[in-house]
Amino acid sequence: MGELNRNFVAGEWIPGEGEIENRNPSDLSDVIGHYAQASAADLDAALEAARRAQPEWAAWPLERRQAVLTAIGNELMARAEELGTLLSREEGKPLAEGKGEVYRAGQFFTYYAAECLRQLGENADSVRPGVEIDVRREPVGVVAVISPWNFPTATAAWKIAPALCYGNAVIWKPANLTPASAVALTEIISHQDKPKGLFNLVMGAGSTIGQRLVESPQVDAISFTGSVPVGKRIAASAIGNLTRLQMEMGSKNALAVMDDADLDLAVNVALAGAFGGTGQKCTASSRLVVHSAIHDAFVERLVAGARAMRVGLALDPDTEMGPVVSEQQLAENLRYVEIGRAEGAELACGGERLNMAHEGYYMSPGVFVNTLNDMRINREEMFAPLTAVIKVDSYDEALAVVNDTSFGLTSGIVTRDLARASHFRRNARTGVVTVNLPTAGTDYHVPFGGRGDSSYGPREQGRTAAEFYTVVKTAYISPGAPG
Ligand code: NDP
Repeated sequence: MGELNRNFVAGEWIPGEGEIENRNPSDLSDVIGHYAQASAADLDAALEAARRAQPEWAAWPLERRQAVLTAIGNELMARAEELGTLLSREEGKPLAEGKGEVYRAGQFFTYYAAECLRQLGENADSVRPGVEIDVRREPVGVVAVISPWNFPTATAAWKIAPALCYGNAVIWKPANLTPASAVALTEIISHQDKPKGLFNLVMGAGSTIGQRLVESPQVDAISFTGSVPVGKRIAASAIGNLTRLQMEMGSKNALAVMDDADLDLAVNVALAGAFGGTGQKCTASSRLVVHSAIHDAFVERLVAGARAMRVGLALDPDTEMGPVVSEQQLAENLRYVEIGRAEGAELACGGERLNMAHEGYYMSPGVFVNTLNDMRINREEMFAPLTAVIKVDSYDEALAVVNDTSFGLTSGIVTRDLARASHFRRNARTGVVTVNLPTAGTDYHVPFGGRGDSSYGPREQGRTAAEFYTVVKTAYISPGAPG
């Protein structure tokens, strides 16, 4: 057994109570390491330390904070190969995606490093003569970051970087399925110049340490990414303390493929959106809404493309789709295949467990055809390499199907018709819309978030992040009597 990877609390690496083993989903014989589980007392110590450190950090000169964020970002980008390999080994995404994720995480830090210097307020004259008004943003305080396993480094980065940029302290509870990426990022943050206790890593189960974190009155704000049921539980806990909340949850993103689409482009966009990251993305294209005029030709090429995808070891450079993250997730995916069949959908390809040379959680990319939008496979987030084709007869019907969902994160259209593209962009009820691009894949300098059950609270990323990580103060200033 290797060395225990520890939690980082109040500036120290501490062992916690109990530990978990982390295995490679591509190759179950590969044990990545053992990871400490934080105790309730560890969490309390982290909260206390964060509370003490935050005002000191907020009072630091802007350029000193900027330098810290720049250093974290640069180190992540410089080590993208090494840390991306670790990420792919524990999460299962192909190496290029793992490296790309770590590099992108670095870009979040360098972007928010620059934002440290762009914190401009507003001023106004008062309605009272001689009085001036100054409106500025202040840190919210101690932020709890709860992140998922599917983008273990990038999601954490797009929460931690703005939290620190705007002068907050952080308690990070990463997903227990991907602790190696969490320890790697924490190590980089740990050796920066900063007040002791400003940044804390508490690994452990969501139901225990996560729940205690979100119930704590010591937490001023919670930023969460994960499933809708857990999000609702967190919201119920947070409201007891009136804790500020930002949540990014599941979705059921639709890609509309119109009769005038470039067919090759449409198929490539659909394959990338449906099966990138093994379909384990909140932005995945899990519904393909296809015009009847091109339906058969599109399905034929889509199925051929899905069948041709190389499923394999995350670290094999030829792999196009890695394994599913865990045994539980694989079992759930296969259950959805049965649900789809039982409700009358036809599985045109894939959707089966694969036995490979290395034991792992492999399944083939699956395409359902002849599906209806009210089937469970088109209503519930599967988070699987499974997509479902819904045939429609017009653009209007396509738009209605796209919008007929309880979610609303991303949607996309493939068309050559500018008028349709513009109409779609304005009328799709999602937080992100794409035209002739996959529904997955977003930038870091602009807002990200959805509608309906997909999101709650202010948007993440870009400058909009300031709305969540700061509170507004309005100051009235009178010059007083002339001296
Ligand atoms: P969860 O929503 O369970 O987990 C997300 C994070 O929340 C993890 O860090 C988890 O901890 C933590 N958590 C769980 N329960 C609590 C709690 N009561 N209080 C505080 N934190 C908690 O997602 P899963 O990993 O279980 O995945 C299940 C499904 O969620 C997927 O199939 C998918 O549909 C959806 N999902 C959506 C994501 C997205 O990007 N929108 C990302 C991940 C999942 P831990 O896991 O360590 O116990």
